[in-house]
Amino acid sequence: MAPHLIRIIGDPVLTQRATEVTNVDGAFAKLVQDMFGTMYEAPGVGLAAPQIGVQKRFFVFDYDDEPGVIINPVIVETRGEAEFSEGCLSIPGLHFDIVRPAEIHVKGYDLDGNELDLELDDFASRVFQHEIDHLEGILMEKHLTAEQLAEARSTLRELRALGVGQLPEPEVGVGRFRIL
Ligand code: ZN
Repeated sequence: MAPHLIRIIGDPVLTQRATEVTNVDGAFAKLVQDMFGTMYEAPGVGLAAPQIGVQKRFFVFDYDDEPGVIINPVIVETRGEAEFSEGCLSIPGLHFDIVRPAEIHVKGYDLDGNELDLELDDFASRVFQHEIDHLEGILMEKHLTAEQLAEARSTLRELRALGVGQLPEPEVGVGRFRIL
């Protein structure tokens, strides 16, 4: 089927906390498959359910050619600090250097109900933190400095004036900058 529409900043679904997934059935598996299609077409390396208007706690990812999905993810521990340039499919045209914990310990479930217990660092850690933020209703603008936020607001105004359909193609895979 055609990819889902990706919700853009300003859409209230992006700022509400998603609820736990309680029922993993065939329809859910199909939704996950559709989300991969939407993510690849965007293109991005991570896509959280609220970004397609589904207020459930799961996201799909593919940052190293190993596609995966995690359901009801929880960060149980964080360590260190790292700065990465982040972009977001829901805030097209913007990317910023953002400081977050460097390493995370995450638990969750896969589609078969197996528990996932992951120690992540580097870019994987960043992807997971960004997507888990989406499940909390937090967009990356919440992590910007006052200066970055002022720049973001000005750029967003310009982008809105252009119309979202005329945004420049996001740069994907340039250096460490990825769209999440
Ligand atoms: Zn995002």
